[in-house]
Amino acid sequence: MSDAPAHGPAAPAMPDDTLISVRGLKKYFPIHAGWNRRHVGDVKAIDGVTLDIKKGETFGLVGESGSGKSTVARLMLRAYPVTDGQILFRRADNSIVDISHMRESELRAMRREMQMIFQDPYSSLNPRMTLLELIGEPLVIHGVGTQAEIRDRVAELLSVVGLRPEYLQRYPHAFSGGQRQRIGIARALALNPSFIAADEAVSALDVSVAAQNINLLQDLQEKFGLTYLFITHDLGMVEHISDRIGVMYLGRLVETAPTDDIFTKPLHPYTEALMAAVPQPDPKGNRARKRVPLKGEIANAANPPSGCTFHPRCPYAEAKCSTDEPELRMVTPNRQVRCHFAEKLDLIGVRQ
Ligand code: SF4
Repeated sequence: MSDAPAHGPAAPAMPDDTLISVRGLKKYFPIHAGWNRRHVGDVKAIDGVTLDIKKGETFGLVGESGSGKSTVARLMLRAYPVTDGQILFRRADNSIVDISHMRESELRAMRREMQMIFQDPYSSLNPRMTLLELIGEPLVIHGVGTQAEIRDRVAELLSVVGLRPEYLQRYPHAFSGGQRQRIGIARALALNPSFIAADEAVSALDVSVAAQNINLLQDLQEKFGLTYLFITHDLGMVEHISDRIGVMYLGRLVETAPTDDIFTKPLHPYTEALMAAVPQPDPKGNRARKRVPLKGEIANAANPPSGCTFHPRCPYAEAKCSTDEPELRMVTPNRQVRCHFAEKLDLIGVRQ
């Protein structure tokens, strides 16, 4: 007789308020060398990221270039194959699926519910396509609607993002950077997704246009109940849009916390250093303590430092830091940090 269980594997589960949950996510890129292309190591681009994003919330993911934040977003939307880990997603019918190792044919249906807004509004739109073709393309690919219905839907989407429906037959070059970003947002909304990852979505725009587009994203979130993963290197920007923030360093989360807490009292030295770059008015000169700017470059993910991977750049490092690897641990019910000395350090935020 077979020892196989009477039922199949248990269905994936996550809390009722969670839309997407990433568990132990890894993405390694193999390094090959020699005439026979021998596997000699891996670039550990993402090395065990675990995070939950609640329905209707905006989770900001921050870190320097090379920290792995964009790779996490691409993995969550399965733009890359996953090396290891789970990506649980709550579908519109409330069922939970693990998309981490889904085949491309199964992913196609999922992609209606998960969309991405790209960094560069200049290169992410095909210059040979009209707005009707660009924004309507996801509908055509998924076979949604007749030509007339697609035209109506694109006109509606243009007005939803604050552009005139008469622009249907225009090409992207006729629009400013901020307007092109809105075209990208309209395209992302075409299939009524529940989850949108915005990768440096406003970083290429000047401050006032970026602020307008952030306001638009917030309005759309309220109107359509969207959940966002908002990726940026700019902590000042993420403060205005995020409910919670995750800080990434060298392929791992080093701190997660509600936005207010992280800006008032960071617990990881890397978070504190990132905040040193956020301009803050101090007309009365009350800031007696000086924040320490970030020194040096992010380490090589193919050959990460021993112990705490941040130790070569950390102004608070002690002997233990170069030998013992800190775990990401819960320090309060809603805060996690990866530092041996989080409780002992008195770090400075950007708010009093
Ligand atoms: Fe700095 Fe040590 Fe904390 Fe790492 S574990 S962040 S090196 S104090």
